Amino acid sequence: MTQVVTTINEVKSIRKAVLKEKSVGFIPTMGALHAGHAELMKQARKENDYVIVSIFVNPTQFDNTEDLEKYPSTIQSDIRMAEKETINCVWLPKYSQIYPDEYKYKVSESELSKTLCGTHRPGHFDGMLTVVMRLLNIIKPTRAYFGEKDYQQLQLVRGLVQAFFMDTQIVGVPTVREPTGLALSSRNTRLKPEEKENAPLLYKILKLAKSDEDARLDLEKNGFKVDYVQDINGRRYAAAYLGPIRLIDNVKI
Ligand code: AMP
Repeated sequence: MTQVVTTINEVKSIRKAVLKEKSVGFIPTMGALHAGHAELMKQARKENDYVIVSIFVNPTQFDNTEDLEKYPSTIQSDIRMAEKETINCVWLPKYSQIYPDEYKYKVSESELSKTLCGTHRPGHFDGMLTVVMRLLNIIKPTRAYFGEKDYQQLQLVRGLVQAFFMDTQIVGVPTVREPTGLALSSRNTRLKPEEKENAPLLYKILKLAKSDEDARLDLEKNGFKVDYVQDINGRRYAAAYLGPIRLIDNVKI
């Protein structure tokens, strides 16, 4: 039975009382859960005695108000998915609990976070790193799970726990895709039918193009508004809009 909790005190007392000697897996999410999130849950389930999923649409990592306002919310079906994956606890934190300081204190990274998505989404990675640090400090999980779909985020979180000597192991999970190749994302539900048809081209073009410049041109030809396509250390990263929806993906090259 999945326990649903809302307060920090509840989560902390679970961590302290029940789990002193046990391993705890943690999956931070923003909800509207799909098979990508389920994969993180399955891996955490295999590797830990107790698994906690948080669902919190973190406002400090949104640089675009409309994106925040329109972020999909499906709490009841999210809880059902957690139950199906035999998650022990779903935590639904409130903004005022996570940010008692009103976000006067934040964590920032000065190099990687200024590239790729960081160039186009000012403040996004500060908000992400800050919320991840707060959540990890509250739960103190043995392991925390992050998707490779957000590869830059995964690298930054690894750097965060190293830089601040935090005792959580960060586990990366490969990207889950639709049969068409489209990386699953909560934002995909906002794509119009014709955009949904076009969206798998992002992955296809990233994989097949000879260079990042070729990929950019090909995406533009196919109706994407490209934020960036960039090859770094054997990986090709991209972010591009279809209508108002911003899709990101990355592939090994
Ligand atoms: P989100 O709810 O979008 O903040 O995502 C929560 C976690 O799930 C992050 O670590 C994401 O990287 C991961 N995730 C989201 N979509 C996928 C996917 N298609 N495959 C693997 N992991 C994913």
